[in-house]
Formats: sequence, structure tokens, C-alpha cells
Amino acid sequence: MRNFPFDQPGQFYKGNLHGHTTNSDGALSPEAYCELYRSNGYDFVAATDHHMETFRWPITDTTGFRDESFTTLIGAELHGWGMENGELWHIVANGLPLDFADPQPNETGQEIAARASEAGAFVIIGHPGWNGVTINDALSLKDFDAIEIYNYGHMNDCDRGNGWLFADVMANRGHRFSATAGDDAHCKPDRPDSLGAWVHVRSESLDPDSLLKALKQGYFYSSNGPRIHSIELTDSEIVIECDPAIAVYAGGRGSIREFTRGDALTEVRLPITRFTSSFVRITVLDAHGNRAWTNPIWLDELNL
Ligand SMILES: [Zn+2]
Ligand SMILES: [Zn+2]
Repeated sequence: MRNFPFDQPGQFYKGNLHGHTTNSDGALSPEAYCELYRSNGYDFVAATDHHMETFRWPITDTTGFRDESFTTLIGAELHGWGMENGELWHIVANGLPLDFADPQPNETGQEIAARASEAGAFVIIGHPGWNGVTINDALSLKDFDAIEIYNYGHMNDCDRGNGWLFADVMANRGHRFSATAGDDAHCKPDRPDSLGAWVHVRSESLDPDSLLKALKQGYFYSSNGPRIHSIELTDSEIVIECDPAIAVYAGGRGSIREFTRGDALTEVRLPITRFTSSFVRITVLDAHGNRAWTNPIWLDELNL
């Protein structure tokens, strides 16, 4: 089932899908950027420099910083016109070829996203809460895999890092996508924006192609703190095992929700019945105020 990693083979690998180096407006060299994540226990990182003329259209090559226990994805943040508010799109693409072509003059965000998707990339609508992406914008962008539902950098420079309101509206309209959290790291002193939000990708190996395939299938969940160890869906229940939590929420179409609150919850059972006609997404909240989020899981893809 798309977007549901918990019954997939392999293990979870922790990585950041969104960040910038000195090849665009970040403060760290590509090597130092990768080392920051490697030395803090991440399994992989993506340098997604701004693919803009000002920076000479970089696609940052981080392949030299891979080793047997740490890898990198090749990506970029793509920009093009075509948003309703007149601003440039911010589209985070992971899995781009190093020779991804520079945009044509006046190429729109929609056209660049289509090219990235065609090249096999995992395409994310970046930080919709920050730059005012509309539903019409998203509908015009046919080629995307995910919505960035939490952007750590923009939580810390304008309190607009949360993309769930936007994503829930899209899910309510029946659109099927996955949901990423990421740092948008620039590593400058003006705001905290590194090591604050990530994904756990379920993959059979740390191979970049395997990670990308899993991302495209939605075999991951997002977090800025707690881990989700397992989720089991039965014909009557959703059984969640997680790090100690003070609340576990399930949200579905419209106002549908179930929850349990408590003290150091590590196994929670929620009724599944109200979600079966649409989707459910789980949030785990820990005592520090940090969260883990599943993708929206469409239960009609499940044989209960
Ligand atoms: Zn951006
Ligand atoms: Zn960015």
C-alpha cells in the first residue's frame, strides 16, 4: 500500500531531504554540510541548492562524501514562474541527474517539475505555508509526489513552517500524495535550521536508488523528535507503537478524528471504522512538544 512503510521489508534510514550549501545561499561547503549530518547520526542527506541563474544553476555533486554507512541524494530546489501570487515556485527535487538541464527562458515551475519528474526525481512542493502556495497552484502542478508538511527553517523565521493545513485540504479533495518534513538548512547564524526535521525511509538498503524508490512509493514517515516503531491496521483498529508519547492522534477526511492522551504512551489502539471510506494520518506527540507524522494512508488501498 502506497504511503505505508510499516509492512515493508528492510529498515528505516534517517535523512534530511532539503538543504543548501555554498553552491547557492548556504553557509557550509557541500563537504561540511554532509559531514554535519553524517556526524549527527543521519544515514543520508540531500543538498538541494537553489537551481537559479544567480548561482549558475547548481546541481551539487555530493557523491564524493558517501561511504558504507552514509549516503547522499542528488537534488536541487527548482524555481520557475507560474504561482497565483506572482512569486517563484520552490520545488524540492531529489534524485536528479547531475546533468539536469538549465531551465529554458520563461520555463514555468510546472514545466520544470514535469522535467524533474520525468528524470525520475521525487518532487516535493516546498514549504507551502511560507510562500502561499494555493490549491489551484498545486492542481496546476501535476507532477509532484509530496507536500512538505513541516519546514524547520521557516518555523524559525516566520512561524509558517507547517504545511498540514494545505496538505489536509488537498487530501480532503481526494488527492493522493505523501508528506515530508525537512530542515531547509542554510546553516547561517540568523535562525536554527539544521538537524530539526527529517524523514525515516523504509528501504532494503542505504543505496540511493533504493531510498529514492521507497520515497516515490511513500514508504517513509516524518519527524522532528519521536520515532514510530510500527503501525498495524486491522479490520477494527489502528495499533501504533512509538517512543513515549503524551498523545497519539488520527485525522481523516473533514472533521474525522480519534485520539488517545496519556503519560508515556508506547502502544496505542484507535478504532479504524470512521476512516475506512477515506484516509487516515497519525501524529505522535511527545512530552517535549515534538511530533512524528505518517503520510496520509488511503484505506481503500488496503485489503482489510
Ligand atoms: Zn524554498
Ligand atoms: Zn530551501
